[in-house]
Amino acid sequence: MTTATDSPSLPEALGPAAREFLAGELRLVVGSERPAAADGRTFATLDPATGGEIARVPFAGPADVEAAVAAAREAFAGPWAALPPVARGRLLEALAGAVEAHAEELAQLESLDNGKPVKLAQFVDVLGTAAHLRYFAGWPTKIEGSVLPVAAPDMHCYTRREPVGVCAQVVPWNFPLLMAAWKVAPALAAGCTVVLKPAEQTPLTALRLGELALEVGFPPGVLNVLTGDGSTGAALVAHPGVDKVAFTGSTAVGREIGAVAGRALKRMTLELGGKSPNVILPDADIEAAVNGSYQAIYFNSGQACNAGSRLFVPAERFDEVVSALAERAAATRLGPGLDPDTQLGPLVSAEQRERVLGYIDSGRSEGAELLTGGGTALSESGGYFVEPTLFSATSDDLRIAREEIFGPVLVASPYDTLEEVAARANAGSYGLAAGVWTQRLSSAHRLAAMLRAGSVYINHWGGSDPAAPFGGFKASGVGREHGHDGLDSYLETKTVWVSLA
Ligand code: NDP
Repeated sequence: MTTATDSPSLPEALGPAAREFLAGELRLVVGSERPAAADGRTFATLDPATGGEIARVPFAGPADVEAAVAAAREAFAGPWAALPPVARGRLLEALAGAVEAHAEELAQLESLDNGKPVKLAQFVDVLGTAAHLRYFAGWPTKIEGSVLPVAAPDMHCYTRREPVGVCAQVVPWNFPLLMAAWKVAPALAAGCTVVLKPAEQTPLTALRLGELALEVGFPPGVLNVLTGDGSTGAALVAHPGVDKVAFTGSTAVGREIGAVAGRALKRMTLELGGKSPNVILPDADIEAAVNGSYQAIYFNSGQACNAGSRLFVPAERFDEVVSALAERAAATRLGPGLDPDTQLGPLVSAEQRERVLGYIDSGRSEGAELLTGGGTALSESGGYFVEPTLFSATSDDLRIAREEIFGPVLVASPYDTLEEVAARANAGSYGLAAGVWTQRLSSAHRLAAMLRAGSVYINHWGGSDPAAPFGGFKASGVGREHGHDGLDSYLETKTVWVSLA
């Protein structure tokens, strides 16, 4: 087996803590154990900036799923259930502190594994993870039932809020640690236990999170981590010992998981894809709208479920807006995530690059006008770089105008009236996010009410906070994460009737 220390593909910019983590043999987290996969299988995780191998990771199979679910069930029935809420809160707080203490290491691992700029990894992924853990650390002591004013005078009736149970949490590769935190933090706050399955492209930070949880004193079995591929995720979701499934990823896989969980009547939360409309109104501050629309699509190389990938511009301002955007896109500095000057990293994998290039080809062949980008970049590096790309299209029927591309590809279209743009923005199958740029308060609120999306951003893009619900309308998902809503999805309500007779 190749070990990471002697691997020629580790970049010089990687610090000692990240190197030390990679130097050891990477293991699963199951109960108090750090096992290899039961059948000894491993797979390589690759550096998207070079295509080189970073490390080998255990490939969890059915026996590992069995062991992890058993460990989670045991912890749920025993030590975790016995812990008072205040102690659950303290452990979440301690994990937030540990994530902050290891912020540089975690950000470098994330940048290396995913390709994103290391500053983005540090400020969005790692500090966002700590913020989620800290926010949910405040919840265990505030989970309350209520006394109900039932009609029968000889009855005392009240509710208890109880944890759903063992949760299978399957997360994607675009914000690996942060997506894990979005799921792990509310689940643990509610008193559930977890088996976490990171994406095969980005397994490193989830394993480190599992280690840190054991280090700060979480009882074994509360947070288990299984690395593997879609088959590992499928076995986990289908396991009868799992009470709830939480998934972020593609709508196609979300449908499959939803069907399996639905048949078994498991609880579920699904955060799926998007094709989010970003609407500039005629009275908008155009400079702010151009800057915000650039961020909306090219942030994280367009690999964000809420990317503003569909831009609507008033016909009379169309040329001005798209030429400013094209200029900014063409000036973007591409490079490896660990280079501090990089603005845009590679896509996560060769497969994702091919998928995105396929969409760019379809845009060209269906008649969209390519304004900038459209090709690969830095090909001598061996990495999966795609140029920031901008299309202009008048038809909403093109594949690039309807389907989630999940890459740095923006499709801009002109429109004439507010009613027209609202109808076009709502016409697709997704409903995750939408943006509005205007200086008129009344237009902002009118459109916010008209757009069928889980989040609407006015004069910015991508606001996010652990307290603010996030999730999708229509094919963008089921349920909400973050805040009170996010916590609720990990709780059952029990109604207790006491006869006073
Ligand atoms: P997937 O939806 O396949 O992967 C997301 C997660 O689900 C990964 O952990 C994956 O494991 C796991 N998984 C895959 N199949 C199953 C299954 N049958 N049962 C349980 N778990 C499963 O995304 P892809 O990586 O294939 O990306 C494809 C497209 O999905 C992207 O182009 C993008 O459009 C969309 N996507 C959307 C995301 C979002 O945040 N909304 C995030 C990522 C992708 P593994 O990776 O190991 O196969």
